Amino acid sequence: MVTYEPGETEEDEAERQFLEANEVLESAATHANSLIGLPRDISLTALSCGEENAFWDPESETIAFCYELACAYRSLFTDLNTEGSEAERVRATDDDVIGISNSVVFHEFGHALISLYDLPITGREEDAADQLATLLLAGDSLHQEYAVSAIEAWGALALSAEQGDVAADPADEHSLDSQRYFNAICWLYGSDPAAYQGVVATDGNPDGVLPEDRAARCPAEFDQIDQAWGTLLEPYLKTA
Ligand SMILES: [Zn+2]
Repeated sequence: MVTYEPGETEEDEAERQFLEANEVLESAATHANSLIGLPRDISLTALSCGEENAFWDPESETIAFCYELACAYRSLFTDLNTEGSEAERVRATDDDVIGISNSVVFHEFGHALISLYDLPITGREEDAADQLATLLLAGDSLHQEYAVSAIEAWGALALSAEQGDVAADPADEHSLDSQRYFNAICWLYGSDPAAYQGVVATDGNPDGVLPEDRAARCPAEFDQIDQAWGTLLEPYLKTA
């Protein structure tokens, strides 16, 4: 069940209106539900949290999506989208906020699946959740665009960390933004190397961002992720 609670600040309330008018959380839930069955209904609630966050709460079986997080990404994308008329820049930022919001919901959906089905995960659960999000994003062109928004966001955050604006925290349970950036590019490329050939840095394509030696392994990385999650979720998958 999707709920939008009133935003507690003007900025949060503006995000509530945007997300609700565009049915952002509803469409993320519909996409996830179309592919993977849950043992029972869970809640997906947008609200003011007092922090930039999104999380799975196993007690209430709720995915919480904080308006503050959408605000933070809106500000980040506003800085990134500098081309075109004002209307085009606003539109691009709106699209990116929709994209990253889907990616965030799918990541939290990964935590929900691990928790509800008590799935065995080796390695970091945060990476497993990113991998599940990748699988939900890689299947069709609309969601692939959403994945690109997430990649752009992590790229910008990684750059801030590199420049010392935001401290990278190796003790955090998530991989570093720079690692999430390269993982997300690698896995999206790996899902369809022909379509994403342009991201690979080669002598002939110096603008590529994915180093060639990593790129060579990405199709196998994607297949491994697909197979692992496919095995774990096999009883619950709605499509083969
Ligand atoms: Zn997480």
